[in-house]
Amino acid sequence: MKRILIVLSISIIGSIAQAQPALNTIKIADLKKDLYTLADAHFRGRSAGTTDELKASMWLGEQYRALGLLPAGDDGSYFQFFNMWHNHISDQSSISINNQSLTLWKEVTVAQMANAQIDAQILYLGDAATMNTANIDVKGKVVAIEANAKGINLNVSLPTWRYPRSILAKYGNALISKGAAAIIFINDDIAENAWADANENNYRGSFDIDGGANATVQTKVPVFWVHTASKPLLQTAGATLKANLLIEHQSYPSVNIVGYIKGTDKNLASEYLMYSGHQDAHGVRTSNHTDSVYYGADDNASVDVAMMANARAFIKNPAKRSVLFVIHGAEERGLLGSRYYSSHPTVPITSIVAVLNGDMIGRNNPDSAAILGMQAPHKNSSELVAMALDANYEGPKFKLDTLWDKHTHVEGWYFRSDHLPYARLGIPSLMYTTLLHPDYHTPLDNAQNIDYDKLKKMTDWMYRTGWKVANAAVRPAKDVNFKLER
Ligand SMILES: [Zn+2]
Repeated sequence: MKRILIVLSISIIGSIAQAQPALNTIKIADLKKDLYTLADAHFRGRSAGTTDELKASMWLGEQYRALGLLPAGDDGSYFQFFNMWHNHISDQSSISINNQSLTLWKEVTVAQMANAQIDAQILYLGDAATMNTANIDVKGKVVAIEANAKGINLNVSLPTWRYPRSILAKYGNALISKGAAAIIFINDDIAENAWADANENNYRGSFDIDGGANATVQTKVPVFWVHTASKPLLQTAGATLKANLLIEHQSYPSVNIVGYIKGTDKNLASEYLMYSGHQDAHGVRTSNHTDSVYYGADDNASVDVAMMANARAFIKNPAKRSVLFVIHGAEERGLLGSRYYSSHPTVPITSIVAVLNGDMIGRNNPDSAAILGMQAPHKNSSELVAMALDANYEGPKFKLDTLWDKHTHVEGWYFRSDHLPYARLGIPSLMYTTLLHPDYHTPLDNAQNIDYDKLKKMTDWMYRTGWKVANAAVRPAKDVNFKLER
């Protein structure tokens, strides 16, 4: 991926860099030891809502205790548990075309869930790119469409399971709003290649916290995908679809790990600088790779171990303000832990003066990195951004990528990590990252592939920024004109 790197030069004339007496407590050896432990196969990829995530969370809580953090979870513990709602298609569901039963998750996959009983003729619309639906009445009908990649951006991360979503957005949603009862997409070559990942994703279903839009399934119209080989079956004159789709709705526990270090200033100790990361990754999966454990070393054990290193530094030399450490659960299921904590904070939400979130901070070029929330419309505190830039200048001197923070960037990366719910509440918030790489969300995101020198520099940067915020006479102000594009 093409990147333009610029060095932001910051004038420090007239300012003297503050001493960082505990910087030398941040050690590569600790980062490495912690990361090899957390991203070990022992924790089986820490998938949200599983005992693997809980086991890793207990380990993190134990590290908090050993480091000397004070508990700030529920009931005097380091843990804040919450319900993660899971909706998925029941194994009792059945789908047949022309009375020929298709094996669910093998011959047919359900890309959009719905509780639905359908017995209807199929209207074959042909190639998505050339079909003309202007004068066709699709109301109450099942339509079949051949996928076509024309006009779909494939140069994105996770193109596999994003491809069927893009096809649905481009060709399917208009037909749904015109009243189609179901859509059957037929794989093209790209969808055929995407099948394993997309199907696994479909099989998992959707997740949310209590009250979230995906806590229950809202859609009424199911969307199916079938292999190219099923095309003749669908093209048969008078072809019919019979489907009995049932959704199962279950809750699982996930957990935020919360601790703090008390500030030394009697007036400022009731305010908190907050560090944020997530402990979950993608668990054990089957598709397409030689290894099955998605270790989540960069995403996001890198930040969890950086937070522990920062905790060591703040314990050695506490700041004026208190420093809060929140390692969120279930980030990969839709920022669930941060959405839960920000709506059920264990300290007064107005006492959190800034959120320094990190996501993936140990890969790519040794001398470059990014903070998201640095440019409008994502920037919600010019004062916090200035502190982070000063910290970079005084410390690691990374060349800062500015492309990924742009609202025009295709990845929408700003909207994909745990600072977001806090920024939406108006709390000055940043996300530190060394950005995507080809091993993202694969078993190759493992401890061996982390650049530990770079991880230390990122940890230093987050520490230096936090030190400034936690000791500033006045908390960083929120920019009054802050408004996210979505
Ligand atoms: Zn992440």
